Amino acid sequence: MLTHAMKVYLSFDYELYFGAKSGSADACIIEPAKLLLEIAARHAVHLNFFIDSGYLLALEKYSKRYPSVAYEKQQVFKQIRELAAAGHDCQLHIHPHWEDSYYDGNGWKMNTNRYRLDHFPDAQIEQIVQSYYDITKDIAGKAPIAYRAGGWCMPPWNKVSAVFKKLGIWIDSTVYEKGYLQEGQIAFDFRKAPASDQWMFETDPVTEAPFGYFLELPISSISCSPLFFWNLYVRGRLNRSLHAGMGDGLPMAQPGTKKKLLTRYTQQALSCDGYYASLLTEEFYKRKAKGEDTMVVIGHPKAQSKFSVQALDTFISTVKDSAAFARYSDLQKD
Ligand SMILES: [Zn+2]
Repeated sequence: MLTHAMKVYLSFDYELYFGAKSGSADACIIEPAKLLLEIAARHAVHLNFFIDSGYLLALEKYSKRYPSVAYEKQQVFKQIRELAAAGHDCQLHIHPHWEDSYYDGNGWKMNTNRYRLDHFPDAQIEQIVQSYYDITKDIAGKAPIAYRAGGWCMPPWNKVSAVFKKLGIWIDSTVYEKGYLQEGQIAFDFRKAPASDQWMFETDPVTEAPFGYFLELPISSISCSPLFFWNLYVRGRLNRSLHAGMGDGLPMAQPGTKKKLLTRYTQQALSCDGYYASLLTEEFYKRKAKGEDTMVVIGHPKAQSKFSVQALDTFISTVKDSAAFARYSDLQKD
């Protein structure tokens, strides 16, 4: 019997934390990414990394002044070169608040007042995209063709469309169906996105345009019950060493989020971070049964736990024969 393999994109945002504590490159990036790369190598599959490119520029800038940053830069750049050489994708992830953030001799000081690209003047947006693209291409040795907005904060597309076309960035992978958040500096609204696993667009990533230049490859979306989060919190308490996140930083504060998750159904991006990874296999077969072609999973090295890396390993072994683990760079533009 000939079965159609569903494409699975395992994508990881390669970054520090952006809250009061950035965490260390070792614990947030290098060590957990190593575990992910080991799993990928064991199963001979490829991963996709969305590299926080503003961080690379900051490493470059502050390495001249601080030996500790010079060491951090060497570790991070080396790992990016290695993972690119092993055939994993390095795509563009833009957190423009790096423009206002700095190293003070003890650690990274994140200033997230301007968290979104549209918090910056138009001319600067183009310069940010260009310089973040350049360093990613330079370190990875291959030009990015796909973009993911930092914190899901999709920029108004008319502000990036021209520069993306100039650079050959033709894929966006930020949207998740029914995703919506307006809180503090974070703002995104994907409620009008098509219920589809990919579409072309031209002027707005959530509006399909069959002959548009850009491809949207949305992150798969799931509806999560309060019970899931009760489970997550309780298990986290009962077995800290299994469920604790590997990264040693703190996320940006999101007051009210925990209460919301524990009291009502919420729409979430399909993730392989922490306890979310327990859902991968079930979500895969659900999509396969519906005849879907593609599943895009988001993850972060910093948010991996012992539990999540085990679950990812099990997921890949389980679905391997009916899945094709794919890279953005395998896609061809017509
Ligand atoms: Zn990010």
